Amino acid sequence: MDSYTHNSIPEHGHGHVLQQVEKVLHMTSGVEENSYSHNSALQKTVISKVRPVLEGTVRALYSKENFPRYFSVADLGCSSGPNTLIVTYEMIDAIVGLCRETGHSPPELTVFLNDLPSNDFNTDFKLLPDFYAMLKKEKGNDVGPCFIAGMPGSFYGRLFPSKSLDFVHSSYSVHWLSKVPQGINNNKGNIYMGKTSPHNVFEAYLEQFQSDFSLLLRSRADEIKLGGQMILTFIGRSIKDPTSRDCCLVLELLAKCLLDMAAEGLIQEADIDTFNLPHYSPFIEEVKTIVEKEGSFVIDRLETFEVNLDGNDNEENKNYVFDKFKCGQNVSRCYRAISESLLADHFGEAIIDDLFERFAERIGEHLSMEKTKNFNILISMERK
Ligand code: SAH
Repeated sequence: MDSYTHNSIPEHGHGHVLQQVEKVLHMTSGVEENSYSHNSALQKTVISKVRPVLEGTVRALYSKENFPRYFSVADLGCSSGPNTLIVTYEMIDAIVGLCRETGHSPPELTVFLNDLPSNDFNTDFKLLPDFYAMLKKEKGNDVGPCFIAGMPGSFYGRLFPSKSLDFVHSSYSVHWLSKVPQGINNNKGNIYMGKTSPHNVFEAYLEQFQSDFSLLLRSRADEIKLGGQMILTFIGRSIKDPTSRDCCLVLELLAKCLLDMAAEGLIQEADIDTFNLPHYSPFIEEVKTIVEKEGSFVIDRLETFEVNLDGNDNEENKNYVFDKFKCGQNVSRCYRAISESLLADHFGEAIIDDLFERFAERIGEHLSMEKTKNFNILISMERK
């Protein structure tokens, strides 16, 4: 680890680049120890919880559309690594299962994997030959031709031709905003909404979410066929008051680590003040209001569920034993894979190892006192 003196603190982004989230944000690429591929157990658990809803919806939709010859789906914010193709597999599996049961021949499937242009699409594409082979082996002639393609670009805007999609899915992506809300440089000592944030910070975050989420709905409304479906799962908060603990606690712990580093002269405190995450965890009613106001979709389901913050602590992992150190490392690696592109852009690459070692310790300590959960919102909608 490099040692720093106060004078050698490097100058970095100061927030301007974060106005262009789509150029900077990406989950950590590749398949190495710190990659998103290796540290997305939490997101995998979320996907598995939503599976029954996804399958039920796809089956109902495909039969309602009268078993069409072609079926087109998109996964928004697919990222890279194993999770990407889990969702694709589940959609295919649902359709193949239904065709088997009803004696219909399988459709030709088009699957668009969408993410921001700096996503590691190469890792995804390299998984495709084995994925196609596995499908053929497992399903034989019950699976029809399947065409998986990448679609780079922001889901806050048009991505696909008009009325071209039957089904759209997204897991753990739409809590990312298109940009850091404006006018919140007074959010001192915080990197997101926090207990000590001034009032305008909460307002600015909500307004940014309202504008982004409406744009997402409007864009998909153009692209999804009438009667088509969309399922979105994302992080939310359990109560209206955004200073509630489950909303901001973990990111407040990350902010504390940055503040410790500033106190030790490793980074500048002013840089923390100008760093805010382009992320929002809405309250369920906020989501409902936006969908109703935008008006293109009817809500079929709107529900919430929780998963443990340590993604390895799930129902599948029956032998899980809490260990403060290991658990702290797991959560820290997960947060690192998600946020290091933004943090490194602002504070410089050199602080990242140190920051996440501190965070692992803090979060491990916290989890040894209290089991913490991520609160999630699931919404399923039909294009009117
Ligand atoms: N669906 C995956 C990945 C979740 S990580 C899973 O469940 O594991 C969130 C992903 O959303 C990231 O890959 C990020 O790049 C992507 N993302 C964030 N904002 C986006 C936007 N505006 N348009 C497209 N993708 C976006």
